Parts: sequence; C-alpha cells; structure tokens
Amino acid sequence: MLKTAKRLNSFTESVIREMTRVSNKYNAINLSQGFPDFDPPMKLVTAARRALEEGYHQYAITWGAPAFRKALAEKQSYWMKLEIDPDTHIVTTCGSTEAMIVAMMTVCNPGDKVIIFSPFYENYAADVILCEAEPIYVRLYPPEFRFDTDELRKAFSDGVKALVLCNPSNPTGRVFSFKELKVIADLACEYDAFVITDEVYEHIVYKPHVHQYIASLPDMWERTISCSSLSKTYSITGWRLGYVMGPEKMINVAKKVHDFLTVGAAAPLQEAAVTALNFPLSYYLELQRDYTERKNIFLSYLNHAGLRYTKPEGAYYVLVDISDFGFDSDTTFCQWLAKEIGVGAVPGSSFFHEQVSHLIRFHFAKNKRTIRAAGERLLRIKEKI
Ligand code: GLN
Repeated sequence: MLKTAKRLNSFTESVIREMTRVSNKYNAINLSQGFPDFDPPMKLVTAARRALEEGYHQYAITWGAPAFRKALAEKQSYWMKLEIDPDTHIVTTCGSTEAMIVAMMTVCNPGDKVIIFSPFYENYAADVILCEAEPIYVRLYPPEFRFDTDELRKAFSDGVKALVLCNPSNPTGRVFSFKELKVIADLACEYDAFVITDEVYEHIVYKPHVHQYIASLPDMWERTISCSSLSKTYSITGWRLGYVMGPEKMINVAKKVHDFLTVGAAAPLQEAAVTALNFPLSYYLELQRDYTERKNIFLSYLNHAGLRYTKPEGAYYVLVDISDFGFDSDTTFCQWLAKEIGVGAVPGSSFFHEQVSHLIRFHFAKNKRTIRAAGERLLRIKEKI
C-alpha cells in the first residue's frame, strides 16, 4: 500500500486557520487567525501598483531584491543597534513562516533537540518535526507566562541544538524583559546552542514594555538567527514578505535552503515594500498608539463581560480563562462561541504542549468598529450560559 511520510503523523493542520473557516461558516466576527481587517497605508498600495507598472515581473535575486535588502538593513540596524549588512546578513523569505523553517533547516540535523517554550505558535513544533529534530518543551507558567530558570537550564543541559524564542510572544502577549533574555542568552552561550527568534510583533509593544532583540545582547549575534516579517508592522500579511537575519556564516547556508524551498519572495512586492521600510519613526509610534487603543477597547469589553485574562504586554493576542463556564473543552467552547455568540477564537490547547483546555485566544488586530461589535457580542456570554 502507498504510504505518506511518517513524520507528518504527529501534527495536524493548523487549528488557527481552521478557526477562520469555522468563523466564516457561522458568519462570526473572526478574532481567531491574527490578521488585520484594515488596509495598509495607502502609500504602500500606490508603491505596489507602481512596481507592477515599472516591470518587476521576473524573479528577484533569490536572497532578496537589492533595494529591499538595503532598506531593511538600514531600518533594522537602527532598531537592533547592530550593523546589518544588506549583502551578507539577510535572506528575504516568503513571510516569517518560511523564515522559521529556513532557520530551522539551517541549523538542525535529524535527531537534534530544539527547545520550544509552551505555549507556542503552532508552526514551531511542525517546523522542528519537518527537520526530523525533536521538540523539547519548557513551560511558561500562567498567569504571567514566565519560565523557571532551573527548568530551562535542565532542558539546555540535555544537549540542545537551538531554542526558539517568540518575542513579543504569540499567544501569551509576553514581552521578555532584559533579565529574562539575559538568562536565555547566558544558557545558550554556556551550552553552545543557537537561538532562533520569531519577532514579527517587534513594533507592537505596550508601554512601559520595550522590545529588545536577543541578537543585540553581548555575544549573541554570532549564535542568533533572527526571523521577522513585514506582515504585522505594515498590515500586509498577504504580501508574504519576511526575512532571516544573522551572521554571514549562517546566512550563506540559509541562502541555499531558501533558494531550493521557494527561489524567492514576490519581486514587485519587495520593490513596493521599500516605501514601507523607509517610513519615518512617527509611523512606528502611531502603530503603537493605534494598537494600544485597540487593546484598551477590547480589554474593557472583557472586563465588562467579567472574563479573566492575562494582560498583553505586546503582540495583539489575549488569552482568556474560560474555566468558569463549565464546558468540557476549549474546542467545544470555541465552536459554541462562533455559532451562538458570533465571535471566532482559537482553542488555547492548540498552543500548549501540556494538557490545557481552559484558555482561548482572541486577537484584536481589527478596526475599532469591529472590536466594539465583537465586544458587544461577548457581553452576552454570561446571559447565554
Ligand atoms: N500569526 C497569526 C496567528 O497566530 C497568523 C497565523 C497564520 O495563519 N499564518 O494567528
């Protein structure tokens, strides 16, 4: 009998994306899969139209159009306080999703161990398994979602090859402090491990929290592969523009992986994105202000609805505790919520390695009008139960 690859048996299709289909089925307001329902800045749309008219229709250089890498290197050098070289430190990818698998394939041999904090964004375990490596889970303890240093040390001492760090974190909303990053960095150095980051929410951080790039910590540039994307920062999740950033030695290998996986990200959109990468500082301040407002509106509805949650420090997600409602699982609750209340959410269990079924994840990357409409619906939860 014909059989498909065994390594794929241990994970399912994305639950996040499935919940978008569930939301659509019930015509619910979709606060499950995290993407905006508002347009990117008009200047970007104009730049994309111009790029198409100017004839960028064929492959760009496989590791990224020169103009894109130059603008990205300038922007990230400023934010990361590092000197990023456009030719030797960057591979442009199809979103951070490709960046993460490229990073993982760059460092992992079959059988290698990779630390993943749990809860985690579902792609990481799948990426590790696709490399035939082994995920080692280290818990982030609710409600604050902090790790225990002794547990982390124990995991490192098991001979791990790399640690995956999502910061600001999906789904917890944590922004790791300098002290926490230093603990991770010191252990990575002590046990000679790589750090692979997912920093797609780098510009969505709520005061007084500040995002710090672990690659910028002493001795960390040489062992960190930083992955990020333009999706969340410029509200262009469908453009699929991301990147891998790191020292030349690793990037040379990552270039090969990327070349054979996808050849390259969309050429005209890379040209258009130069406009975004050159936005002034005020753009990022405004983005932060807008997301802070969205967060505050959404959290005030959760408060009024009497829901318990962990306050996000960054990113645009909030984990809500549903243990008061007497459902047998978070999945049943999310189905009920979409059908009866008209709001889509993701069952928390899809983010945890350990058995957890009392949390669900909402996102609030939506127009304030949409957030209010969803909030009004959530106010009805208690009377419907
Ligand atoms: N990162 C987003 C989320 O967690 C979108 C995921 C996706 O479908 N690529 O919802």
